[in-house]
Amino acid sequence: MPSSNALFYLTTKDMPLVSHADGIYLWDTDGRRYIDGCSGAITCNIGHNHPTVKRAMVEQLDKVAFTYRTQFESQVALDLANKLVERTDADLQKVFFVGSGSEAVESAIKLAVQYFLVEGQPERSKFVSLRPSYHGSTLGALGLTGYEPLEAPYRSATIGSVKVPSPDLYRFREANVEEHIAVVLEQTERAIEAAGPETVAAIVVEPVGGASTGGRMFTRSYMEGLRALCDRYGCLLIMDEVLSGMGRTGAWFAYQHYGVAPDILALAKGLGSGYYPIAAMMARQELVDAVGRGGGFMHGHTYAGNPLACATGLAVIEVMDSENLVSNAAEQGFYLRQRLEQLAEKYSCVGNVRGIGLLQGVELVQNKLTRQSFPSEFNAFERITVLAKERGLLIYPRRCLDGLAGDHVLITPPLTVTTDDIDAIIALFDLSLADFEQIAKEQVAW
Ligand code: PMP
Repeated sequence: MPSSNALFYLTTKDMPLVSHADGIYLWDTDGRRYIDGCSGAITCNIGHNHPTVKRAMVEQLDKVAFTYRTQFESQVALDLANKLVERTDADLQKVFFVGSGSEAVESAIKLAVQYFLVEGQPERSKFVSLRPSYHGSTLGALGLTGYEPLEAPYRSATIGSVKVPSPDLYRFREANVEEHIAVVLEQTERAIEAAGPETVAAIVVEPVGGASTGGRMFTRSYMEGLRALCDRYGCLLIMDEVLSGMGRTGAWFAYQHYGVAPDILALAKGLGSGYYPIAAMMARQELVDAVGRGGGFMHGHTYAGNPLACATGLAVIEVMDSENLVSNAAEQGFYLRQRLEQLAEKYSCVGNVRGIGLLQGVELVQNKLTRQSFPSEFNAFERITVLAKERGLLIYPRRCLDGLAGDHVLITPPLTVTTDDIDAIIALFDLSLADFEQIAKEQVAW
């Protein structure tokens, strides 16, 4: 451990010093090996230390690392934008590069606002988003975020969005899923009407929830319902695929599972796969043309679309294509899900397994029958993560304090995983759950 620490992050725990990484493994400076069962923050999709990406980055560094977007175009930026457009199979023809997921969401917010300004509807500046949800940490993206502990301290400083309930396919109270979806869509429509439909710029949704809901999926009927609301009230549909995009769910983009496309799409994480910060906002041609007629998009970041970032993104896509990682995510995701379901049968603390592809979430509950969560002071989400780390497995924890999504962890290994890798992950998670149940029995009434 370092003796003094000048870093300022929100953590009070001592952490190991990282030494190096390869494939799905990371090592600390004490020589301990960890399986990256969550791709860092669901980011390192192609695994660590990939030679193709390293080579492409060095080749680009030898040419030019940085150019500013108003001075030069670069071939790698043009190529990367085209590759993304090809993969969307939707009307998303335009790409705007940025450096992080939050910036991609900010860009989506600003494009929507500017579009309606140009269209002569300046009053359309409100956003409708879900609770729980996570859209980023900058003030605009945080304003859309429906996650109390993060947003509450900054509420007076954020743009504020109209929050509507997220469908909950684990704890719904109606007779069946479709009835639940109908109720949630009805509440959403009432909220739009109450806000004034002519003031709403967009509905924003993560097609598969990540950190906020632990892999919560929706139904096709829900996504179609959101699309229909947007069309009825003349607002845009923004999808935040910062976490779910780039093959993670077994399709290039999670919206493809529902057959409902957005007007604006936010991407990040897997795009650079952790090798270099790169993110993107994709939008329909018509929106970008309109904003162009109005004098151009009044937005941008210094690092946007720099050659090193784009060369990295291109190499990541090359690896994904040559190693068939999107179909591997679908196949191995299916296997991972089966193995997690087996653990759910074995352990009474596993209430729900949800997600798709290699985006799987596991919710821990105190009572499986009533679906009651553990008391918040027990910190179930953190305990299981620490226990897994002690056993050499990294998983991604979150608790929704609103009581809306419970204690959950994400199991989201790199898309390169094999069946043997998944067996190794499951073996360690199995032991960690056994440790967890033991502690829970001692400390919490079952
Ligand atoms: N949207 C979603 C759905 C995310 O999961 C995240 C990051 N967890 C963000 C936005 C923000 O991305 P970043 O941390 O790169 O700013």
